Amino acid sequence: MNVGVIGTGMIGTEHVRRLTSRVAGARVTAVFDVDTDRAAGVAAVAGAAVHREGHDVIDDPAVDAVLIASPGDTHADLVLACVATGKPVLCEKPLATTSGAALKVVEAEMTYGRRLVQVGFMRRYDVGYLTVKSALAAGRVGEPLLVHCVHRNVSVPPAFTGDMSLTDSLVHEVDASRWLLGQEIVAATVVEVPHSPLASPQLRDPRLVLLESERGIVIDAEVFVNARYGYDVRCEVVGTTGTVALEAPTTGAVALDGGRVQALPMDWQARFAQAYVDELQDWVDAVHRGTATGPSAWDGYAATAVAEAAVASRGSRTMVDLAERPALYSGESSP
Ligand code: NAP
Repeated sequence: MNVGVIGTGMIGTEHVRRLTSRVAGARVTAVFDVDTDRAAGVAAVAGAAVHREGHDVIDDPAVDAVLIASPGDTHADLVLACVATGKPVLCEKPLATTSGAALKVVEAEMTYGRRLVQVGFMRRYDVGYLTVKSALAAGRVGEPLLVHCVHRNVSVPPAFTGDMSLTDSLVHEVDASRWLLGQEIVAATVVEVPHSPLASPQLRDPRLVLLESERGIVIDAEVFVNARYGYDVRCEVVGTTGTVALEAPTTGAVALDGGRVQALPMDWQARFAQAYVDELQDWVDAVHRGTATGPSAWDGYAATAVAEAAVASRGSRTMVDLAERPALYSGESSP
């Protein structure tokens, strides 16, 4: 399977490396990035052609499937072009920066008649999240009542501004919660907390968001993108008879001088390294089979709709404006 990659920045470069060396059944044959030097460097490693713009990658007859890893505000148009040409596409999150644009992707896919779009919610492939999911499915902690989520980054690049901690980061907690609980999120409240002076003021970092599921489960999600000390993602589901929590993979602990130190990953690349490989392998296998099973355009739409409600919240409980879920998305991966 020949893959064309649009966007060869931090994650795009790593996805190309993974597709080239860790994933079976695919190779990268074309790339584009507005930073032409960056694109050329990545293309040289993969043995791929460099195109002059994103749509040239999609229209390239030698490209079987497309991976989009450019900034979020470019995603929806590129995904729509993929669907128009009938090419499978793995789009990094967010699927779109507005729920209206994401819904257009859902509608285009419905018109096409089958799923072509997978969204890069790679936590669904992480062994820790999969363990939580299977414990819940087996009823090991009874009925879920509450979910506690934490999403902390060391820092974010200068381009990360405004409400991106909700539209770009919180969407992971939203998708993970929807997937773990098998329920849509219907309301969001952003609770005012003191902001870190180490973050740019417009980020209002950290954020604390209360999400409510359709059957009344409350999810508290802390998003702190300038936490400095490490990359720390946590998730605990509290049930009627017990709790199940994510254990971050570790490389061991050092006990010394009366203390015990356990290393934390410093970024998402390290924390979710295996999940990204498994995500890509699943996508490539699905494209070969012609049946998409990973996080769908609906999942991308639902996450963006919840983030939009959180942005609008400003302290008050805000209902999520969600369209009716089409039958095309009633498969296993969606609530
Ligand atoms: P990044 O390092 O800034 O890379 C984005 C690249 O796309 C840059 O080289 C940028 O060039 C380029 N670009 C800008 N406009 C473009 C366009 N119209 N067409 C093609 N390329 C364009 O960002 P990143 O961290 O890799 O993030 C990329 C996407 O992946 C974002 O949507 C982000 O949310 C997502 N992401 C997902 C995860 C995950 O865990 N699933 C993790 C990280 C990122 P310039 O720098 O010159 O603008």
